[in-house]
Amino acid sequence: MCLSIRKYCLLLVYLSLSKVQSAPKKQSYSELRACNISDLADEIASYESVVKDIIDYVVSGPFKGYTYDELAKFVDTFGARPSGSEVLERSIDYMIQLTQAEEIHDIVTEELEVPHWVRGEEKIKMLEPRMKDMALLGLGRSASTPPEGITAEVIVFNNFSMLEAASIVDVKGKIVLYDPEFTTYGETVTYRSQGATKAAEKGAVASLIRSVAPFSINSPHTGSQTYGDNVPTAAITIEDADMIRRLQNRGVKVVLNIKMSSTFDTKISRNTIIDLKGTKDPEKHVIVSGHIDSWDVGQGAMDDGGGLFVSWAVPVILKRLNLRPRRTIKSIFWTAEELGLVGAYAYEERHRNNSHNINFIMESDEGTFAPLGLVVAGTPEARCIIAEILKLFESINASTLVESDSPGSDIAVIIKTGVPGASLHNANERYFWFHHTEGDTMNVESPEELDLGAAFWTAVAYIIADISVDIPR
Ligand SMILES: [Zn+2]
Repeated sequence: MCLSIRKYCLLLVYLSLSKVQSAPKKQSYSELRACNISDLADEIASYESVVKDIIDYVVSGPFKGYTYDELAKFVDTFGARPSGSEVLERSIDYMIQLTQAEEIHDIVTEELEVPHWVRGEEKIKMLEPRMKDMALLGLGRSASTPPEGITAEVIVFNNFSMLEAASIVDVKGKIVLYDPEFTTYGETVTYRSQGATKAAEKGAVASLIRSVAPFSINSPHTGSQTYGDNVPTAAITIEDADMIRRLQNRGVKVVLNIKMSSTFDTKISRNTIIDLKGTKDPEKHVIVSGHIDSWDVGQGAMDDGGGLFVSWAVPVILKRLNLRPRRTIKSIFWTAEELGLVGAYAYEERHRNNSHNINFIMESDEGTFAPLGLVVAGTPEARCIIAEILKLFESINASTLVESDSPGSDIAVIIKTGVPGASLHNANERYFWFHHTEGDTMNVESPEELDLGAAFWTAVAYIIADISVDIPR
């Protein structure tokens, strides 16, 4: 790895040496933030044996491998589950039956209208300077091209400032290609979500993005976007974006033909809510969640089959272990996340008057690789309580608390109304390699990591739902 970039490598060696010399002891969240939660620390510590029981049951006991096997059965049976499709609805029915088979019957579904965008034929060809077929994936809700396609010259921009600085004459009638370097998903994804609209404002006839990913084996990554003006918009691979940029930098004119078709209407889908009723304060609840819909490419095993199944496992494991917390645990399968958090918005609106009863809300939608801890939104006091709970997971290396004001995707809709919550922090460095591609299959998932995730998710939710105090707001 280091051979070809010697200077950078030397710098790394220097940095790692200087780290060895002066590395301070890693401070925990509670030390860093001087948490003082007095008596509660003893109460939380008393859950140590419950945590051990749950981890043993899931990681090395009767539940070992079960989450993976059930996820594989689900993914192999239904495959991709796009918003508005019949297969999504059948997969929802299946999850209800799977839960009922566990003798859990407090299940409701809530209907809502969801987008139903169906990808048709998609083709992109480079016509100049040479003929080349390229891989592409239209972005969600993209407009279609005329049947003969759109043929035009490409103009490459690294960022929006470059586009803004360009004159309308330079952009008008061309295909804009955004070629931003992948930094973080949150930062880079703005080119996917807003690129088409901004390109259209400058008179472009179509808009392409370099796939939002840090790594590629010639794989285009789809995703949602917000439409202003209707120019067709799609993702091409990192490899082809690099090539087109190099050609432009050499002054070579690049001409593409893009053909895209799709249909759009709306359908009725459902959020699914499974209750494990609390013993003392059943109206108060802790939510664990993942989304059941997926993109139409790949199998939605990682995004978000893993998150769906670790959240499904929470009431199942607790029921099997006869553990009933003080407050209710709700396991929610959001629908139509991929086309704009549609299920989460509908849930927030429908339950707004009851949101004071959401004690804490959790979501896993950034992979179910080995759990590391939680990304937590809430007051300093709320975070101190969660940090204390996370100390119980040192044995599985899942004690890290990361602060964020907007963790997760679906739950961000509810967190922004002031509800404390967290997303699963996991070893997901490879997540965006597969995200929204044909590569999102069961081969990304690991039985051992899913076991750890299911055990962690279950035990954390149980403790938060059972401790004597509500998570403060
Ligand atoms: Zn997702």
